[in-house]
This record gives sequence, C-alpha cells and structure tokens, in this order.
Amino acid sequence: GWDPLTFLRDRERTSRPLARPVDDDPNAIRRIGVIGGGTAGYLTALALKARRPWLDVTVVESSSIPVIGVGESTVQSIVPFLHHYVGIDPVELYRRVQPTWKLGIRFDWGPDPAGFMAPFDWSANSVGMLGSLATQGNINAFTLQSLLMAADRTPVYRVDDRLVSLMPYLPFSYHLDNQPLVAFLTDLARGRGIGYVDAKIADVVLRGDEWVDHLRADDGRRLDFDFYVDCTGFRSMLLGTAMRTPFHSYADSLVNDSAVIGNVGHGGLLKPYTTASTMNAGWCWTIPTVPSDHLGYVYCSAAISDERAAEELAGRFPGVTAPEFVRFRTGRHARAWRGNVMAIGNSYAFVEPLQSSSLLMITLMVMMLTQTLPASWDDAGTRTAFNMSIAKKWDALRWFIAVHYRYNTRLDTPYWRDARANVEVSGIEPLVEAYVEGAPLQLRDAYTRGAVRAAVRTFYDLQAYDCVLAGQKLPARMMPMAEDVETWRERKRAADSLVTRALPQHEALAAYHEHPSLHKELIDGADSWTGPRQPIRLV
Ligand code: FAD
Repeated sequence: GWDPLTFLRDRERTSRPLARPVDDDPNAIRRIGVIGGGTAGYLTALALKARRPWLDVTVVESSSIPVIGVGESTVQSIVPFLHHYVGIDPVELYRRVQPTWKLGIRFDWGPDPAGFMAPFDWSANSVGMLGSLATQGNINAFTLQSLLMAADRTPVYRVDDRLVSLMPYLPFSYHLDNQPLVAFLTDLARGRGIGYVDAKIADVVLRGDEWVDHLRADDGRRLDFDFYVDCTGFRSMLLGTAMRTPFHSYADSLVNDSAVIGNVGHGGLLKPYTTASTMNAGWCWTIPTVPSDHLGYVYCSAAISDERAAEELAGRFPGVTAPEFVRFRTGRHARAWRGNVMAIGNSYAFVEPLQSSSLLMITLMVMMLTQTLPASWDDAGTRTAFNMSIAKKWDALRWFIAVHYRYNTRLDTPYWRDARANVEVSGIEPLVEAYVEGAPLQLRDAYTRGAVRAAVRTFYDLQAYDCVLAGQKLPARMMPMAEDVETWRERKRAADSLVTRALPQHEALAAYHEHPSLHKELIDGADSWTGPRQPIRLV
C-alpha cells in the first residue's frame, strides 16, 4: 500500500519544482500563519520558507505560553531533514545546540536482566539475530550498532594520527536539548525572513465549519492569513478547540498521561543511545545531553500519584534535580487538514516517546505539507488522501507502542499485570501471531512477509517488530539457522574488533569539534548515508 514514509524517501519527488502562485490570482495561497513557536511551529516555518521562498511565512506565538520543553530523542530521518531539507549548517547546529549522537534505544525491558537494544541498523541484521540468541540467549549481538551500544562506543577510531569514522555508513540520529534547539530555530527563522508576531490568540473566527476567517489576539489585534498551520501544542487552538474536530483516543492501548522530568549528572559519560527503563507504573527515558542526562518517568496517574512517581525517580537516579510535571493525552484528531487549517505536532496527535517518534511524525507532516500545499485554492484537492494516510500512520504507531506494554514481563507490579492482561493490541495481532509461528519475520518466506504486510499496517517494517518481540522474549518457534554457529562467531569476532577500538562518544565528539570540517564531511559526503544525494529515509 501507499505509505507516506516511503513516498517521501524518494528524493526525486522532493526535488521537483513546487507550484508558485500567479500574480493576479485572487485565490492564491501566499500568506502562511504558523500559530505556535515550539519545535513543530519552527520546523514548519523553516521548511516552508526553504522550499517555497516566495511564501510570506509568519510565526505567531505567545511569549506567555511556554513551549512544552521536552522532546529530545529523535530517529535518523532528523539528520537529512534538518541539514538537507531545511538547509541547516551542521557546524552551526553543533555550535548552538550541541546535539549528541544516538545509535538506537536501549530497553531495560523484558525478562533478560541485560534488556535489549533497538539499534538503527536493525534491518541490516549484520551479525545475525539467530546466532545471537543461540550463543548468548538474547539479541544484543545481532548488529554492529547493538554491540557498539552495549559497549558505550561510537564508530570513530584513531588510527596512527588520523581519525577514521564509520559514522557515514551507519544510521544515527540526534539527542537535541529542547531549549537551545528552539532558541536556535527562532534565530534562524528571523535570519531567513520569517515574520514573527508575539500575540496570545484569544479567538479563532470561523466562516462555516471548515474555514478560519481570521484570528483575534487578546489585545484586540486581528491576524489574517491564507493558510493556517496549528502548532499550538496540546491546546490545539484551531483544529481542536475552535473547529471541534473529534479526538480519537488511544487510551485503551496507551494508558499513560503524565511524566515527571529532571536532570542528573553523567560524570562525562555520554551514552550513544536513549535508554527506556521499566518503572513500577510506566517507564523512564534517559537522554544524554552534553551537560547532563535528561530523565522523564512516563506514568499513568490512575496507577501512581505524582509524589510517589517523583520518589521512585529520585530513588532510581540519586541526585536528580527537583521534579517537574508534564501532562499529556494520547491519540489523534479525526482529521489533520480541514479547509485552510492543518495541525502539526501535539496539536494534531501524540503518543508517548517510547520510540522517539514525535519529531519523526512532525517532519513527515511538514514535508507532506510543503510538498502538497497548493499554490491556489482553485487547485486544492488532496485533503482526504492526506488525512487518511497520516491517520493510518499514527494508528500504526499506536499498535507498535502497544506491543511494548503487552509483552513486557520485566516487573510484576499491578500496573504491569494490568498492561499484560488488558493493553489493546488488536490492530497488530495478525503480525504477532505470525511471529509466534516462526520468528524472526524478516527471515520468513516472501509470501508470508507479504501477507503480514498486507494484513496489518506496520509502523516500521518487520525488523522493528522482530527486535521488540525477540527482545522481550515473547515465546515463539524460531527459524533454524542457515549457517553453522562457528561462521556466526567469526562474524561476531570481526564486529567485536570494531567495537573494542571504537571511541567513547565524548572523545569522538571532541575530535569532531576540533575539526568542524568533519561534520560537513559526515553530512555532505557523497557516500554518507545522509549525503545530499541520498533519499531522505524517514525510517
Ligand atoms: P509546544 O512545544 O507545546 O509549542 C506550542 C506553541 O504554541 C508555543 O510556542 C506556545 O506559545 C504556542 N501557543 C499555544 N497556545 C497559544 C495561543 N493561544 N496563542 C499563541 N500561541 C499559543 N518528541 C520526540 O520526538 N522525542 C522525545 O523524546 C519526546 N519526548 C516527549 C516527552 C513528553 C512527556 C512529551 C509530552 C512529549 C515528548 N515529545 C517527544 C514530543 C515533543 O515534545 C513535541 O512533539 C514537540 O516538542 C513539538 O511540540 P509542539 O511544537 O507541538 O508544541
């Protein structure tokens, strides 16, 4: 089936010239109001201006309503999106935002005390999942990146006086500290001619059900645009509050509604991954940034009080800073695009960041908007297809996250017992059943793989489900190994030799900072996976 992620992988489609309005068209779409100045708002404004410089783009935000301030772990598509689609200079990004590298997610999850790795190179299966399970009883040696993660290393080497980097050949993403990121994007927008209005929107004046006529600020100012992008976060001022678009909750799969966040020192060890740790009534992220590790315990307020959640976090991470609380709701609106309004970011949909997917979904929607926005209302016509495809992608994400709850046997608290019994996974059950009959799915015959893909809508491809289900040790009939164990061991030894000599992240990043041209080579190199001529792989 048609999938927005694969559609946008195709660089040729995103490099076609985009239609621009003709001068005397009274229905031209020229003035874009991006309402909200969080990550969603600024990425939308910057992408629209970069790709359609003739548009008059304005960010409207209220300095009295802070941005959500969390949202820092990403997946690999962020790298080409930021540098090639939006045109952000990597050296500037490193100077202002100090991103750290992420090779995947480390899950303290499932019955194995070592947990499991979900590396970005999971589709490569480069060392081999079956050999890993046969020799060490878990999947943690199935790819080069999982071995690097287990050893806290990044694929950068000192050879004699030279630095040799395998980063151009292995997918990675960024951990982005939200505050400096938004400050940086704000400055970038000013420098690129994007307008800015500090106004608190008090009233959204509609003309019929499907059209915003204008906005009214609380000081009486009137704001008029041809097209409105609602990036107001959970408030969803335009799509949700004003247009009353129905909200489709995911709460029967995803019960969490709160997070308690804080920072803790890391003593200089920058782990090259996000950690997701099972907690009594939810889970906790650990996101390494240069000054400290950022923590967030995501929980269900019906299962644990705020105070007890904060205590549990402090007990697990001694020295964590004073707790701050965030509330959220999981689900999506029935439609993202109605009339002259499209919602992007938390204003449209949200699931908890167990697979670091929000910025991925934001960049996906930003690219879809930027590529499909008509030049004139006379040409408009893609809303239904857009809305249906993006809704299906979000629903697939809901089912993907749900399998992390349904099959996690790490703890036996009431919360987890309830999750194993009641988390709704009906949208992904045929895939799980096929996995139990023969795993990993990636190694099944082409017909079975095709049948599974046709039966359910997957979020990532089958390798993601193999990783999460095998990582959690869901009992399954494993496929026989197609090689002897000694052949597998030889490959593992070769991978190990690349791991033992690899540098810890703080040393690798320090070397890159000393020679900023390395960042350019990584991002712009002709043979880098994230080079300018490579397709933007959103998964
Ligand atoms: P916000 O940052 O909330 O911005 C809303 C903007 O709207 C603000 O500028 C505000 O001033 C403006 N606004 C609101 N109302 C008005 C009004 N009336 N008038 C004018 N302006 C208004 N994503 C990831 O990719 N990775 C993660 O690890 C991750 N972790 C998360 C953890 C938690 C607990 C939560 C809740 C979210 C997480 N996210 C994560 C999601 C991520 O935070 C968001 O997707 C991202 O920050 C985008 O937020 P936003 O721009 O939609 O909204």
